Amino acid sequence: AREQRWEMRIGRTASGAQIVHLVDQTDSYAAERMRIDFVANASHELRTPLASILGYIETLGEEAGEEKDLRNRFLRIMFDEARRMQRLIEDLISLSRIEAEKYRLPDTPVDLSLLIKEIRSELVDARDGGPPIISALQDDVPPVSGDRAQLSQVLHNLIGNAMKYGRKGGAVTVGLERHPTGMVRVLVRDEGDGIAPEHLPRLTERFYRVDAGRSRAAGGTGLGLAIVKHIVERHRGRLDIESTLGEGTTVKILLPAHGTPAGSAVIKR
Ligand code: ADP
Repeated sequence: AREQRWEMRIGRTASGAQIVHLVDQTDSYAAERMRIDFVANASHELRTPLASILGYIETLGEEAGEEKDLRNRFLRIMFDEARRMQRLIEDLISLSRIEAEKYRLPDTPVDLSLLIKEIRSELVDARDGGPPIISALQDDVPPVSGDRAQLSQVLHNLIGNAMKYGRKGGAVTVGLERHPTGMVRVLVRDEGDGIAPEHLPRLTERFYRVDAGRSRAAGGTGLGLAIVKHIVERHRGRLDIESTLGEGTTVKILLPAHGTPAGSAVIKR
């Protein structure tokens, strides 16, 4: 339940009579609250690995520094924690860049089929023993109007999640098709444990995680889907997440095709 906030403004009518306006400030209070929570969460997420690194440095300065095995183990942990901070900072920078560009419509034609093929071969090269990535790409799909780097980030984040949260040995499917509306649809499906319905509406909130331990163990920052949502919004697209517990998750994205007036991509939310 949202807290209602009203602001009272006192003015005068043309004839000089005093008048009181009540202005609904509920939205701007909620936005302010979100901003405060975001800064607090981000600071906390950075403080935890930093505290751990400082602790290990201190221990290394003491007797543990003498023992080679112990020293190497500590260095490994410090490296992992520093990498975690780096990923988080990179995601924070991405988010603020996307937000800064929010009102600039991206308009380069991007061939998603090509992009998916590239990312797929990148990920297949990088993984060892990960799930098979199946691509189901229709061949008459028009290019979308977009920002190539940002769309690549969307695909990386979604395919990355499908690989992280998918069932061991389960496949990850990436689909591309022309939607009946003329828009282009991208699907990323996994065969994982799925997500309970009560979590679905909150997944794109910054730092919202269903299982924080699992997300952290998999190297997640909790910002991946927030970034996806912002990029899709900037592209005047639409994001849907469907999931069935025990079966898996499908993320669907609709994007306006290049050359269609962006304004005609009227989106029902
Ligand atoms: P994270 O870095 O934690 O993966 P995201 O913003 O990408 O952050 O996702 C938020 C949360 O949504 C994850 O922590 C996870 O709990 C859940 N989630 C995202 N994608 C999937 C998926 N394909 N299957 C199951 N859960 C998912």
